[in-house]
Amino acid sequence: MRLAWHSGFASSARTRFGGLGSIIMLHRVRPDCISPLGVTRSLSITPKFLDEIVASLKAEGTEIVSMDEMAERVKAGARHERRFAAITLDDGYNDNLNHAYPVFQKHNVPFTIYAAPGLVEGAAVLWWEVAEKLIAKASIIRVPGGPEWRCETLFQKRAAFHGLMRYFSFSLSEIEQLPVLRDMCAAEGMVCGVAADQDVMSWKEMRRIAADPLCTIGAHTVHHYNLKRLTPQMVGQEMRQSADMLEDELGKRPAHFAYPYGSAKAAGRREARIAAEEGFVSAVTTRHGTIQVEHRANLHALPRISINGRFQKLVYAQTMMSGVTTPIANAGRRVVQA
Ligand SMILES: [Zn+2]
Repeated sequence: MRLAWHSGFASSARTRFGGLGSIIMLHRVRPDCISPLGVTRSLSITPKFLDEIVASLKAEGTEIVSMDEMAERVKAGARHERRFAAITLDDGYNDNLNHAYPVFQKHNVPFTIYAAPGLVEGAAVLWWEVAEKLIAKASIIRVPGGPEWRCETLFQKRAAFHGLMRYFSFSLSEIEQLPVLRDMCAAEGMVCGVAADQDVMSWKEMRRIAADPLCTIGAHTVHHYNLKRLTPQMVGQEMRQSADMLEDELGKRPAHFAYPYGSAKAAGRREARIAAEEGFVSAVTTRHGTIQVEHRANLHALPRISINGRFQKLVYAQTMMSGVTTPIANAGRRVVQA
């Protein structure tokens, strides 16, 4: 990637692949990364790196826009003189308020946070983070009625984490995940499932950040379930209820949606159709790509550019936003949809 940028390939490719702009995807923003086993490090960037990204986007003339403005531009379909970037953050971590928000304020740029009310109220947990903490602490972990893993060394712990991820994602149903994890935590004397414990914003904190016109709150389901593993009725209900709850708490119905996990295994055409039926203006996946004129017909399966916390280098972010990596990540395709 570094070579692509420095050779000038990425900047010339921007015209060809960069399209209308990009939607940037972030999760955690904090000076110290919380990942005891290093397995979720890619979800965390430092405020300093965020500051560099925003400064560089502004310096190169990219317009940082809200998701409303993004949707308007995609609907209009015309190429603006200046490309856009919309900044989005998933899951509603409280570091978004404490560490990312000051950066957005400093640069006076809009941003969107996709929040799942179940995470705020304890009806859902960021189970991969709880699992990481549990495995860091335990020397053996057992899934009640399921497999077990020894986890004495870091190597074993990482293997156990990936094994447990697979088991939770494919063997357990979405509904079973939380009760099973609660049992596993109880066996280690650990708490599982309080907003403060898992660094998610409380309603009070969310109201504070949502009061700023720079901030858009989008919906991210209630329970953070993989929607592809639910019935169509449940998919609609997860979308609708999350919008209802956010509207009740924040006084404004969210117009934008993000699919939990958002990969091809978690969001497809069915989910895009339901998101449109539920009245969302846009919906974003976690699939890799820039926004093209063609997305006008597919506002409910918009790809994003994930800024990876493992490689916090400006040059990587710039290269991805140029669009040059879109066909590489998508079997040659320039336009990524559902
Ligand atoms: Zn999420």
